[in-house]
Amino acid sequence: MATVEKSEKGSGGKKGAAGEIPVENPATGEIIATVPNMGADEVRAMAERGRAVQPAWEALGFEGRGRVLLRAQKWLIDHRERVIQTIVSETGKTYEDAQLAEISYGASAFGFWAKNAPKYLADVKVKSSNRILTGKKMILRHRPVGLVGVIGPWNYPLTNSFGDCIPALAAGNSVILKPSEITPLTSLLMAEMLEECGLPSGVFQVATGLGDTGRALIDEVDMIMFTGSTATGRKVAVAAAERLIPCSLELGGKDPMIILRDADLERAANAAVFFSMQNSGQTCISTERVYVEAPVFDEFVEKVTSKVADLRQGHSTGPGTVEVGAMTFPPQLEKVESHVADAVSKGAKVLVGGKRREGAGDFFEPTVMVDVDHSMEAMTEETFGPTLPIMKVEDAEEAIRLANDSPYGLGASVFSKDVERGEAVARRIEAGAVCVNDAMLNYAALELPMGGAKTSGLGSRHGAGGIRKYTEQQAIMVSRFHPKRDMHMYPYSEKVTQRLGKLFAVLYGRGDRG
Ligand code: NAD
Repeated sequence: MATVEKSEKGSGGKKGAAGEIPVENPATGEIIATVPNMGADEVRAMAERGRAVQPAWEALGFEGRGRVLLRAQKWLIDHRERVIQTIVSETGKTYEDAQLAEISYGASAFGFWAKNAPKYLADVKVKSSNRILTGKKMILRHRPVGLVGVIGPWNYPLTNSFGDCIPALAAGNSVILKPSEITPLTSLLMAEMLEECGLPSGVFQVATGLGDTGRALIDEVDMIMFTGSTATGRKVAVAAAERLIPCSLELGGKDPMIILRDADLERAANAAVFFSMQNSGQTCISTERVYVEAPVFDEFVEKVTSKVADLRQGHSTGPGTVEVGAMTFPPQLEKVESHVADAVSKGAKVLVGGKRREGAGDFFEPTVMVDVDHSMEAMTEETFGPTLPIMKVEDAEEAIRLANDSPYGLGASVFSKDVERGEAVARRIEAGAVCVNDAMLNYAALELPMGGAKTSGLGSRHGAGGIRKYTEQQAIMVSRFHPKRDMHMYPYSEKVTQRLGKLFAVLYGRGDRG
């Protein structure tokens, strides 16, 4: 298990002494800890340990494993201030962003998987339509793959890194989590939590390190769950293919929001501001671009602009201090800056914000842009920052066409007082999830699958598929009543073969048998 060592403030940038990674608070610039950059040998040793203890964890059954998960649920709530403080210090996000999207998600996920794993993974009794098999017992079983590797991004260290470990554990697997090198501390705290809650040692381990540590992990595990950028996701898919292990990929997005002319503009404006600026826009399902029907464009833009201008930004020192926090990953600031500069150079107008904030910490001002189009990166590539480009469209048809004009297909939203029309538009958007008069909230419904279309991912989390992916299907057939020799067994005889031929003709000769 990696240990966290405190290091001197300002002792370096993102690359520290050999074998160590400094962790920085992006809201203050302080180095708050260092963690080991683990190599392939350490990952292999972890894998051996994880495999050795997995059978005993599986043997505990759903009830035994569920007890540990429910203890962890309580632990998370009892220790929430410590967890929030850890998340805030390594991401620079606000207290509220950590509480709403991380603590509440983690606590609900522990309960959800403890309760639903037995249902989703229960043996299924199967009946075959094949008459030859009459009397045989047939079962579809989901058995754990064994050792699962989870690789996570920096934007939600609890929800998007650790969160995917919960169903993998509930299914009876051992898990090794490789958190982002930018935000490893929350994962280490989660390991401490699980140990205190009685998880057998070695069932959950954290491999801290850079991309190479993630690459080494893929070489050791039976299944890989990856959340991160589309570019890295492609590399992970190739590495998994080389080993012929399954992978599940949750990747980038460029979520559109469509405002139809009959929308409740006050709600739509509040939603556009919140879902684009929440977590400083560093959410895979952030609203990244908005299309507004011409008759309501000016009013919508006016509302959004005044709301964004009122947002307080800075170092979150507790509940209610600021609405918008820091950019977690410093190079992300350059990307946001370059998207804004590209848009402005092609004719976009910045109505609020538009630049880095002066002073300590990594902050980009909440930004609203208009006069944008699809020649601009801000409308076509994932920005992952607190920016909101708003484009005027003639009608819903143009909005749908532009929403679908993207290599991504993660989430989307539609606003209309006519909810049936809103749903009809939603069904035409090429995205894994679409909300009507809302955005992003589908993530909180753990019963619904969450996964991307197009280059936004492969597979999904949540729902039955979100835990079955950590298992292998096994078919079991038990022949309870068995003669010494079945008709089709050796030796072959003309008489029996002809009899079987007649039987098949009776069974299937009419062309109407299922
Ligand atoms: P990233 O792809 O740079 O890194 C993700 C993880 O992959 C990190 O832990 C990194 O160390 C590791 N990694 C890097 N190279 C690797 C390799 N060759 N093999 C194995 N692992 C490797 O992503 P990021 O910048 O940390 O996260 C931001 C991205 O994540 C955004 O694109 C965002 O949309 C996406 N994201 C998607 C979801 C989702 O559910 N779809 C959720 C959160 C974030």
